[in-house]
Amino acid sequence: MKKKIVTTSFQETQQLGETFAKTLQGGEVLALHGDLGSGKTTFVQGLAKGLGIEQKIISPTFIIMRTYQRRKEKYFYHVDLYRIESEHDVEGLGLLELMHDSNNIVVLEWPEKIANFLPEKRIDVIFEYLSDDKRTIEIK
Ligand code: ADP
Ligand code: MG
Repeated sequence: MKKKIVTTSFQETQQLGETFAKTLQGGEVLALHGDLGSGKTTFVQGLAKGLGIEQKIISPTFIIMRTYQRRKEKYFYHVDLYRIESEHDVEGLGLLELMHDSNNIVVLEWPEKIANFLPEKRIDVIFEYLSDDKRTIEIK
């Protein structure tokens, strides 16, 4: 689902995430690029909803990764790498094993922090702040 759109509210960004979630089958890695406040976590909230997750999505900034169950033995990993100082900081998470496992959908905020570990096969989503309520979102 390649597209580039402008959303004009956080609800619209969540809706885009929810719609996009329906195209995912398991095994995908989503790399969300964009500055603080550009809407990455907001999009993840919609994704989770679209995946049938009822729990509230809380940004995993301090713990780096949160796991949610989508269905029986199917998981959604929300990873926020903002606070890591080096790629070594993620060694204990087992991220490489989690990615591309068809049971998992893995979403990374600040993926550039682990540039050397980023899989080639991934979906890049690029967020740009336009004004208070407007964001450009490009799914590649
Ligand atoms: P990030 O995870 O990229 O740092 P967040 O999703 O946490 O960003 O924050 C985005 C903020 O911008 C939220 O407070 C949200 O309500 C607000 N916002 C306003 N307009 C939009 C929009 N069109 N899309 C996404 N967020 C928006
Ligand atoms: Mg965030």
